[in-house]
Amino acid sequence: MALYMADRTKNCLHLEGLSAAAGGAYRCPLCGEDLDHDGISRWVGEAERARDEAYSMDEGDGFAKIAREEAQREVYRRRRIMYELENVPRVATTRPEMILVVHDSGAASYGCRIFYKEPRQAGSVEQVSVAAVLETILELRSDPDPVVRLIAEKVEEFHGLREKLLGDGEPAPQRRVFYANELRAVG
Ligand SMILES: [Zn+2]
Repeated sequence: MALYMADRTKNCLHLEGLSAAAGGAYRCPLCGEDLDHDGISRWVGEAERARDEAYSMDEGDGFAKIAREEAQREVYRRRRIMYELENVPRVATTRPEMILVVHDSGAASYGCRIFYKEPRQAGSVEQVSVAAVLETILELRSDPDPVVRLIAEKVEEFHGLREKLLGDGEPAPQRRVFYANELRAVG
């Protein structure tokens, strides 16, 4: 806390967001720092780099998982602030670059991470978790978001393969990456 007080601009996370200030800048009401358009982009970029670093850490560690989720939430939060300030229309029809589907046997679910080519569009879904139950997966096929429907298709495909292998007494893969060439156009 003492450190925070001593250098509050540098350490401030702008937790209450930014509001329009003079000269087209945006000001943090907590620390008073002014950010222009580039400053906000850099601020978002810093969170993205921290998130990428967190994701490059060892996956098996419970603490690392919490750190990853926190880093990802911070990216979302900063992007949301940026998009709101810049009134970027929320379009979510970009085709993902890659979808990673990981089966979580403890939770009996599939965790999906969706990667897009830069620049990512506001509102694009980046993470979906779905129970490893065919009915639930099929429900997602009618989600209003076309990217979610696409994810549901791929999860269904992976789930079907796993079920078949397990039925044959074969070991089933725990993860699968779908690349752009395996993804149909969305919209
Ligand atoms: Zn601040």
